[in-house]
Amino acid sequence: MVDYMLLDGKMLSNKIKNELKAEFAKLDPKPKLVVILVGDDPASKLYIQSKQKACEEVGVISETILLDSTITEEQLVLEIERLNNDPTVHGILVQLPLPKHLNETLIINTISDKKDVDGFHIYNKGRLINNLETIVPATPLGVLTLLKEYNIEIKGKHAVVIGCSNIVGRPMAALLLNHDATVTICHRYTENLKQYTLMADIIVCAVGKPNLITADMVKEGAVIIDVGINRLGKKVVGDVDFENVKDKASAITPVPGGVGPMTIAMLLSNLLKCYQNQ
Ligand code: NAD
Repeated sequence: MVDYMLLDGKMLSNKIKNELKAEFAKLDPKPKLVVILVGDDPASKLYIQSKQKACEEVGVISETILLDSTITEEQLVLEIERLNNDPTVHGILVQLPLPKHLNETLIINTISDKKDVDGFHIYNKGRLINNLETIVPATPLGVLTLLKEYNIEIKGKHAVVIGCSNIVGRPMAALLLNHDATVTICHRYTENLKQYTLMADIIVCAVGKPNLITADMVKEGAVIIDVGINRLGKKVVGDVDFENVKDKASAITPVPGGVGPMTIAMLLSNLLKCYQNQ
């Protein structure tokens, strides 16, 4: 059993938000983020509210555009193009998922790559894959920032990323590779997940299944990053069996209070980057 370090994303995100607030205060005109929500998915509404609250905290203008779920692709494209051409708008975010009749890839790639606060535009993703300076998706960037804050070595370490979605797993793996880790990517079709996790110096789990990672799957002294958010009644838990895994880990994120708050802070940090790029 080793003493573990709790990777406190809440504390770090507050520190970053305070720094950003000071930076934003120097800017004229004020940075503006526009969030588009199509339809009225309750979870998406909650996410948007927390983004708006964070914008208010740091002195950023935020506008939410609520669009009916029946909107056509053409209408949505026109709306995004209007925002692309509006010089008072510095960041545009389309809340995902979109209703089924809208082509998500087409919509995301309509956002100007310079206003792409989420870093989901194909151009920005391509730059990430090529290890070039870019806007990095907020959740993986939050994980990286947390690792750096706690001086966790990445170079030469074996990082196992579980989950390969476009918004978390894939950019996470690319970012770790760009920081010289040896990266293994696991997903729903990986056979014998445990054989990979047992070899990991760093585990990043982004799946959405409570207790997917148990103590017997973790090497002594590993660093555990739990991206998962699962609602069990009123309780929110991650993908990792925290209570049992923590005693084997050298460092571990809690859920809530780990990666979640970092995501919002990185979104604001991406907005600053977009502002500076314009
Ligand atoms: P997703 O559903 O798009 O992807 C899930 C991934 O998990 C897929 O790549 C799939 O192959 C893999 N997977 C499924 N079952 C598996 C299994 N048994 N073993 C190994 N891999 C398996 O989800 P996502 O959008 O990437 O989100 C993943 C989780 O992270 C969710 O719980 C989500 O709520 C959470 N999340 C958290 C934040 C944050 O800020 N903390 C941000 C985004 C997503």
